[in-house]
Amino acid sequence: MTLANFRTETRAWLEENCPPGMRTPMPDEERVWGGINPVFKHPESQVWMERMVERGWTAPTWPQEYGGGGLSAAHNTILTEEMRRLRCRLPLFSFGLGMLGPMLLELGTPTQQAHYLPPIVRGEIWWCQGYSEPGAGSDLASLQTRCEDRGEYYLVNGQKIWTSYANHADWIFCLVRTDTTVKHAGISFLLFDMSGPGVEVRPIKLISGTSAFCEIFFDDVRVPKSQLIGELNGGWNIAKKLLGHERAMISQLGSRGGGQLPSLEHLVRKYTGDTTGPITDPAIRDLLVRHLINDRAFELTSQRAMAGGDAAAGVASMLKYYGTEQNKRKFEILMKCAGSAGLGWEGDGFTADDLALCRHWLRSKGNSIEGGTSEIQLNVIAKHVLGLPN
Ligand SMILES: Cc1cc2nc3c(=O)[nH]c(=O)nc-3n(C[C@H](O)[C@H](O)[C@H](O)COP(=O)(O)OP(=O)(O)OC[C@H]3O[C@@H](n4cnc5c(N)ncnc54)[C@H](O)[C@@H]3O)c2cc1C
Repeated sequence: MTLANFRTETRAWLEENCPPGMRTPMPDEERVWGGINPVFKHPESQVWMERMVERGWTAPTWPQEYGGGGLSAAHNTILTEEMRRLRCRLPLFSFGLGMLGPMLLELGTPTQQAHYLPPIVRGEIWWCQGYSEPGAGSDLASLQTRCEDRGEYYLVNGQKIWTSYANHADWIFCLVRTDTTVKHAGISFLLFDMSGPGVEVRPIKLISGTSAFCEIFFDDVRVPKSQLIGELNGGWNIAKKLLGHERAMISQLGSRGGGQLPSLEHLVRKYTGDTTGPITDPAIRDLLVRHLINDRAFELTSQRAMAGGDAAAGVASMLKYYGTEQNKRKFEILMKCAGSAGLGWEGDGFTADDLALCRHWLRSKGNSIEGGTSEIQLNVIAKHVLGLPN
């Protein structure tokens, strides 16, 4: 179908099928993660997810044989633009869609792809990411979670930390050590069920009272051998591939996270009181315009970089670095404009936008840590893009 026809058809379909409540800014607690026991906090989010699943548009570019939409990058850009035009919420958000699935499409066996991909598209399994450990964050290859070959199965013992939403997750994609005599070449990549014996999840409470973070303890967890991805001891390259997808996904959170907040321009106007006409304060106007220009340039650069459907390691690091730093700058601009209204935590004196702004501002700081810190992205760029010595 031509791009023009696709745009017309997509616009009409979205107009007809996206419920009105799904065209509003999305509070974090209404985000749909799917899973074996999915939670739909907004009355219209289930029907919206189901319609998009049927169309294959929870994973628009994945092959149709796995339930995806089979769209080209150009068609997908149009879908994204049309969804943004209507302010449609993302129908489903998951680490399966953003990380595990894209990696399996490249490196999984046909059997693994047929088994794991369709439930991800349909939002039936909530996946979490078991990479970080107490002694292995930026230096991820130092991980110690032991995995022994016990003939019929693998036996896993150890601990993970900072595992987002592990307390809700059904399955985990997990890096384990299968050879203790070498570093990178002794790591393997396993998938397993979190509800089985030996898996204990402990949420980590933060000072805010809530947190997505968990610790996970593995005590003699038995994992069927068919759930190893790639070769035994070949997990490091798989881990890096997945990180590339994760970084590309995180880089887009600021601009395409599903419209959790009204647009930057709308909020700046609201907080400055300049709801129509030019923004009076030239310093704020300058900040806003520069930011919007950089946003647009970043959006076009991202589209070009990912046109082939995949961003190479160095490119994913560049996108992740710029996208997350840009997202932090956006919230700093808003905090400048909002003044004390932006520091609201609870209470009647603050609007819903004020309260959301404060939480998003704080949350944006984590964007440049999760998936590898900004310093680590700069190291990757120095080494793999600029060819500088270690
Ligand atoms: C919001 C959020 C969600 C997360 N979710 C998950 C998850 O679901 N699963 C998971 O496995 N992990 C998760 N993490 C953990 C995340 O991957 C790690 O926090 C991250 O990789 C950094 O590791 P660290 O916290 O151990 O910091 P460290 O590695 O101890 O780093 C501390 C500081 O030192 C700097 N530093 C370290 N090494 C270098 C170097 N070589 N050169 C320059 N500077 C360096 C870092 O940039 C950082 O500023 C999450 C983290 C956050 C913030």
